[in-house]
Amino acid sequence: SQSLKGKKVLITGSSRGIGRATALAFAKEGADVVIHYRRDEEAAIAAAEEVRKFGVQALICKAELESPAEIDEMFDTITTEWGALDVFMANAAATAFKPAMETKDYHIDRTYQVVIKSVLHAVQRAVPLMEGRNGRIITISSLGSQFTLPFYSNIGSAKAALESLTRYLATELGPKGITSNTISPGVVETDSVRFYAKDAFETFKTNVISRTPLQRLTQPEDVAGLALFLASDAASFITGQVIGVDGGLTLI
Ligand code: NDP
Repeated sequence: SQSLKGKKVLITGSSRGIGRATALAFAKEGADVVIHYRRDEEAAIAAAEEVRKFGVQALICKAELESPAEIDEMFDTITTEWGALDVFMANAAATAFKPAMETKDYHIDRTYQVVIKSVLHAVQRAVPLMEGRNGRIITISSLGSQFTLPFYSNIGSAKAALESLTRYLATELGPKGITSNTISPGVVETDSVRFYAKDAFETFKTNVISRTPLQRLTQPEDVAGLALFLASDAASFITGQVIGVDGGLTLI
């Protein structure tokens, strides 16, 4: 089906991982997407080529999310090319995995800049483009926002703030017909999880699977499926929620 035909979608960090899988899922449903990246241009071009195979548009935008000026440039491009936006998904994240006692100001600054400040800045640019279009804001959190994980205080606390911000956006933007929800994935098999677990990845994976009622890791496509639902008409009355997609990992 092509249920999102003609919708305009921006997913940050869509050159790789969860963002890429979600961009492809939206493209398959007929949406035009921005492939956003920071420095891996080759990956962005490859993702855009995959997107175009579905007969939709892919705009490639490079922006370091630590830089408000680069975020503005990306939105200037979207404004010129499309003049409209239906879905903004804040997916990209940055962190340093360290114990809280070893986390420096600049680690916190970088993480909060990318996970919180850039999202707010982007939303302020996205909302005018959503005028009269029942826009959708989707943020990506992590179970480390509500549970404690080793070396995760930096990003975990930023994600907790992001969930709160997502609720405030739901309240403030509801009268414009815009919904704002958070997806909280379990452990997703991506480059960043391999980096997090380092040499212990296989043990970590086995351990997580053994604690997951549905007995596997979250796949990027699981997150993409929930994002598609949140962007669909069926989800038009769901707002301000944190929705898990973790196979039941957080139940036990
Ligand atoms: P990453 O968080 O590793 O993000 C990869 C993408 O984000 C790439 O496109 C990358 O571009 C871009 N990116 C990274 N940093 C920046 C930056 N400073 N400015 C602009 N773009 C940037 O990928 P994942 O797929 O693992 O995670 C996606 C989201 O899901 C994140 O919010 C993460 O916290 C969340 N999440 C992931 C889980 C997991 O298990 N993987 C679990 C729970 C949540 P480039 O390659 O060009 O640098």
